[in-house]
Amino acid sequence: GLLLGIDTSCDDTAAAVVKDGREILSSAVASQVEVHRPFGGVVPEIASRRHLVAILPVIRRALDEAGIAPQDLDGVAATYGPGLVGSLLVGFMAGKALALAIDRPFVGVDHLEGHASSIWLARPALDQPAVVLVASGGHTELLYVRRPGRFESLGGTRDDAAGEAFDKVGRLLGLGYPAGPAVDRLSERGRPDAVRLPRGLSEVDTLDLSFSGLKTAASRYMLPAVRDGRLSLEDAAASLQEAIVDVLVDRLMRAAERTGARVVAATGGVAANRGLRRALSRAAQERALDLILPEPALCTDNGAMIAAAGHFRLLDEGPSDTALAVDPSARIPQANIGADT
Ligand code: ATP
Ligand code: FE
Repeated sequence: GLLLGIDTSCDDTAAAVVKDGREILSSAVASQVEVHRPFGGVVPEIASRRHLVAILPVIRRALDEAGIAPQDLDGVAATYGPGLVGSLLVGFMAGKALALAIDRPFVGVDHLEGHASSIWLARPALDQPAVVLVASGGHTELLYVRRPGRFESLGGTRDDAAGEAFDKVGRLLGLGYPAGPAVDRLSERGRPDAVRLPRGLSEVDTLDLSFSGLKTAASRYMLPAVRDGRLSLEDAAASLQEAIVDVLVDRLMRAAERTGARVVAATGGVAANRGLRRALSRAAQERALDLILPEPALCTDNGAMIAAAGHFRLLDEGPSDTALAVDPSARIPQANIGADT
């Protein structure tokens, strides 16, 4: 069936039409990054107002690009959480209202379940179990995908998200917001072993992650060295990137080992990082794992991943209860085969 997927969890207004959870017919995104840039982060009040302005045009664009009318849809999916409550409400209520108006099922989707569902858009034939790393500005989570539509959390960050680590340290280095892409660029010309930064929790038998120690160490030892010229910006960036990438690769490989999954994937904005992509390719190859790295447009927030997730949820458990509300702190249930710390 044809599903419209809507996401307004953070600062992007996104809608897309997807066929059978695996084939993208259209995908429209209105980005707000320029609006929030001067503030060095997303301003919730501004974000929700922007979503209100953008939501109907973005939905219209998704339908037009797919060449369909609202009545051609077989259902509507929208993110119910986690995210900013004022942002979530806009897309969620628009989706609910549209479904009601065209008399089709509505299904609420978890944002991380959405990110993980990009694996079926990147690899339509995929049906095996997979472990997916979702690493973005707001989330860093390892999900076990038993089968399409079945998600369990294996672990996640205990403090900052990976993208936050890039952004916070990058900001201290004067790289603007978001700093991730600049760190990536500078790293290409830096030495990753210039400074040894902590790899949080790596010595512990866990699938959780922690980036707060890295942030503290970077600001205490790395920044002064950059300021008085003992360390180049390139070397600082490369050392930071290496520390973050090391931890992400380590946990994804651990997760594959624990679950026995032969398919691994990485998505979220941080999955655009070139160092991470290279390191993942190497690690997957060494272990003969099948690695899925969705294209960048599928890694950042988009409506297609929500439509894909909605499709499998509809198949699995049918439409959402009409009483379903947004949940800013929604969580994917913990897996049984998970971390033990
Ligand atoms: P979410 O609600 O999913 O957390 P978000 O808007 O915070 O959404 P994304 O848009 O998926 O996240 O990703 C943005 C994050 O990705 C930022 O923290 C940014 O610095 C980081 N990022 C983007 N490109 C790169 C890159 N090449 N290297 C490292 N980090 C990157
Ligand atoms: Fe996201």
